[in-house]
Parts: sequence; C-alpha cells; structure tokens
Amino acid sequence: MDLRGDYLAAALELEAPPATVGCESCKHSFFEYRCQDCFPCAFICRSCCLKNHRNQPFHKIEKWNGKCFIPADLLSLGLVLHLGHQGNICPAPNSEKARAALRIIHPSGVHIRHVQYCECKDAPNRAVQLFRHRLFPATFEKPETAFTFSVLDHFYIDAMECKTSASSFFTKLKRLTSNAFPQDVPVSLFSSNANAKLSILILRIEAETSCESLDNGVTCRLESGLDGDIPPMDPQATETLLFSAPPALSLE
Ligand SMILES: [Zn+2]
Ligand SMILES: [Zn+2]
Ligand SMILES: [Zn+2]
Repeated sequence: MDLRGDYLAAALELEAPPATVGCESCKHSFFEYRCQDCFPCAFICRSCCLKNHRNQPFHKIEKWNGKCFIPADLLSLGLVLHLGHQGNICPAPNSEKARAALRIIHPSGVHIRHVQYCECKDAPNRAVQLFRHRLFPATFEKPETAFTFSVLDHFYIDAMECKTSASSFFTKLKRLTSNAFPQDVPVSLFSSNANAKLSILILRIEAETSCESLDNGVTCRLESGLDGDIPPMDPQATETLLFSAPPALSLE
C-alpha cells in the first residue's frame, strides 16, 4: 500500500493557511499567528496569542506573512513576564521602571524576554525573585541571564545518561534556537574560559543537588569525578566564581 501521497498532502496542508481568515479564539479579528507548541495548533490573532502565552512564555510561534508562515517571537508581540504577583502587574508605584530584558536558557532554546520585577516594599532582590520562579540566575547581582530549572534537569539527565558535555549541550540549545544560523544566537556563555567555568559550575550545582537524592546505592558520576567534561567542584572556587561573575554573561 503506497501512502506517500496521503502523507505528502497532509504535510503540505500543515503549511497552508486556514480556510477562514478569522481568529479561531476570539472570532472577531484576523488570524496572524499559530504556535508550534500549543495543542491543538490554532490560528489566532495577536492579542489572543499574547493572552494564551502568559503562562507559556517559551512557546515557538509563527506568523503568516501572506504567503507562508515565518518564525516569530513572543518578545516582538510585547510579552512581559511579571514576577511576584501570580503573573499580574506589580501594584507598586513606578514598577514599570523595574522592567528589564532577560536572556533565559530553556530546553526549547535561548529566549530573550522582558521581565518586570516586583517593586513592593518587602520584595526580595531580583536574583531571589527569579529563583522563586524556577529561574536560576547566572549572577546574583543584576542578573541578565537565567537558566530554567527545567534546562538544568535536562542537562543533568543528558550528562548522566548520554555523556553529553556542557559544550555539546549548549550547542544543541543554539541549534534548537536557530538551526540554520546557530552562530547568530545572541549568547556569549562560552566566549571566555571564565564564562565557560561559570556556566558549567551552575549546571554542576544543580546536578550535585540532584545527586544527593540518589538512594539506589549507585555512585554518582559527578561525585566520583568520572565525568571528563565537568571538573570536580571546588567549594572555594565556587564562591569565587559565583561572586565575581564577569559581565560578559549580560546582554550585549
Ligand atoms: Zn483572537
Ligand atoms: Zn503555544
Ligand atoms: Zn510587587
């Protein structure tokens, strides 16, 4: 049975616009976007796309340009991640001044998002605010890059099960961000030896924290020093590196 024709037609259909031009969500605007990660994939307008992704800020969206779907980004739609108030705007006066761009490393790739920090009287510092939202800041002072806990978990599993080095893992993330032009991904994590050490260190902290929960009698590869790509952790070096993180990790 030859099914090639059926699958080819179905694959081509995926690249076609919907039969109607209306937003499938609000029904009163023209559709402009669709999301590769939402299920089911709906054709929606700009405001519905923003509304639907308030809690899914790392989804990959596409825009219809009249001829085909092209990659788009939630950043360009004006998505802002509000910290400290369950995703709502901080009521503190002048809280908009606490808005900053943040580079976020996630299993789906490298994302730049606008983050609005909580400016309430009793609000913790920015690094702690990020941590409370499961974002591990690359630096504790003026963080401009953060790793989601999810990407740290992914690296831990990859390192343990697939022997993936930190460098290869990061290359994978760049490919996921832009498969055609990975060199253009605006990240300089490995631009210097110090930065490389810092990023590996952050991943190691998460990995070793996870190792403490191993109770199956298996010696952790990280603790046993068998992982060639991740050097054993030196507590003194940890402190030095974490508190003297170079600004090269910041947005350029
Ligand atoms: Zn709509
Ligand atoms: Zn989505
Ligand atoms: Zn607040």
